[in-house]
Amino acid sequence: MVKPFASTADTTTKVETFAELADGVYALTAEGDPNVGAIEAEDFLVCFEARATPVAARRWLDRLRERTDKPVRYLVLSHYHAVRVLGASAFDAAEIVTHDQTRVLIAERGKQDWDSEYGRMPRLFEEPASIPGLTWPTITFSDRLTIPLGGSRGDLVLAYCGRGHTAGDIVAWLPGHRIMFAGDLVESRAALYTGDAFHDDWATSTLDNVAAFGAEALVGGRGAVAAGADAVIAAIAQSRHFLDELRRTVRWVHDGGGTIADAFRAAHTALAPDYGGWPIFEHCLPFNVQRYWDELDGIDWPRIWTAERDREVWVALQDQ
Ligand SMILES: [Zn+2]
Repeated sequence: MVKPFASTADTTTKVETFAELADGVYALTAEGDPNVGAIEAEDFLVCFEARATPVAARRWLDRLRERTDKPVRYLVLSHYHAVRVLGASAFDAAEIVTHDQTRVLIAERGKQDWDSEYGRMPRLFEEPASIPGLTWPTITFSDRLTIPLGGSRGDLVLAYCGRGHTAGDIVAWLPGHRIMFAGDLVESRAALYTGDAFHDDWATSTLDNVAAFGAEALVGGRGAVAAGADAVIAAIAQSRHFLDELRRTVRWVHDGGGTIADAFRAAHTALAPDYGGWPIFEHCLPFNVQRYWDELDGIDWPRIWTAERDREVWVALQDQ
């Protein structure tokens, strides 16, 4: 059976849900499409994630502008993936903040990633001609960056938790409210994309570091807001379980002398009962298996996905 490539057959507009998680802390979730957020400071805004195009970003900003007209001083990007960064110009942000490694990845593979993600998820690229070019950070950091919000609003802490979904994921943490924006390190009832990941670090120390914050509300990269400590723990556990099952099955086939196609089938069989109905599961799995197979072959730095390589891997694994 030939499955439609990646998310090309997903043409249904998703319902967007605006939530105020605490006074001046906002999130917009969208049934498994990439989430965005914003935090109000005394006289400015911090926005988290930018969407795939300026036109898509403006729809989010229109919702936000119903609440506040403060200017965006900081646009924080959790990692380099195109569907989260290429809408940045719509924010007119004074500063664009990422991890050091995100700048490295944009320089190394930003254009290839743009082409790859446009091919995989065309629906997210509303009016692609509105993208002015690659998004470049103006501030980067390696470990932590604290943004004082002014008045009695406390701090926003941006933190690196280790290698995970990419080499340079960061989370945004509001200690006063115990709210976390986790980017793609944690998903809430959406499949994980691991095509650029460091699976072993992510499933162990990195998720341990995320969990150690003790968040009481968490906005993952995709899916609904996890509200309450139990829901946060569950979302982190689900994400870890997905990674653990992927690692277990692919490693078992790899170490047993099987083929990558065998590994794909084993991973699919193990994961589909729990995750097969979640957004982007079929889309992600071939790329996930290929990346972990590469890691087991000793390839530490992720190979660059191009529109052409995407199709080759899809045909080799998903079109079986
Ligand atoms: Zn991502």
